[in-house]
Amino acid sequence: MDDQEALSRAAEALFRAERCLVLTGAGISLESGIPTFRGPGGLWEGFRAEELATPEAFAANPARVWRWYRWRAAQYGDCAPNGGHEVIAKLEDRFPDFLLATQNVDGLHPRAGSRRLVELHGTITQMRCEICGALEPFPDPVAPDEDPIPRCDGCHGRMRPHILWFGEQYWPGVLERAMGAARDAEVVLVVGTSGQVWPPAMLALQAKRLGAFLIDVNPDATEISAAADVHLRGPSGELLPLLWERLLALG
Ligand code: NAD
Ligand code: ZN
Repeated sequence: MDDQEALSRAAEALFRAERCLVLTGAGISLESGIPTFRGPGGLWEGFRAEELATPEAFAANPARVWRWYRWRAAQYGDCAPNGGHEVIAKLEDRFPDFLLATQNVDGLHPRAGSRRLVELHGTITQMRCEICGALEPFPDPVAPDEDPIPRCDGCHGRMRPHILWFGEQYWPGVLERAMGAARDAEVVLVVGTSGQVWPPAMLALQAKRLGAFLIDVNPDATEISAAADVHLRGPSGELLPLLWERLLALG
């Protein structure tokens, strides 16, 4: 299948379907200037993400973990959604039944206009009280941090980023919503995920097993692209706008 045929087949599958699930990972935000964890630029002050984004790392050195998240929040704040995020936001209006389940915490999907979404791993735009669970907006990342560890307004508990860390359980309802969409979907569009993070990869493969048409957008070959009906091989910021044009041409 050449690239043109792949685009046409993907557009036709989206055109025919009424129930669509979109799954995105860090790759969709790369063209916005946000590095993936596994690619180049994935280190911070010599640490790997797996050494910072854990409850153990936070317990051992909360100030360091907060510094890392403030740095990431400042970096993300300087970035804007790209053409890939924009196409996914427009896509949701074409389907009576639609869900975007993202692994990303950068907030670029909501900034691009996505509304029917579930942020599987939380968001860097919020923080949460460790004691009472209250959610508050993430502090201004470039304000001088008098207190490196913010406190809850209500109970004075320690706040943490509202992000699912390695080794933590998914929040109640979050995964169930994505699993329901995977069960019902006629078409699943996966963008920019290595497939090494389960369960998001499992959602795509399970939907495929249940008969969904699986489209993968990724410059690299992955376990998901190997199982896909169509692999659009290249950067999503370029390929998703081309896919959108094909879709519009169909009606
Ligand atoms: P990953 O880093 O494991 O994989 C990224 C994938 O994107 C790779 O397969 C790569 O080939 C692909 N890719 C690279 N450039 C691309 C492009 N231009 N267009 C499309 N795809 C491209 O990321 P992951 O699978 O999402 O898992 C890492 C975990 O880290 C996730 O849980 C995620 O939440 C988190 N994370 C989030 C962000 C963010 O919020 N932007 C950034 C880094 C990591
Ligand atoms: Zn509290």
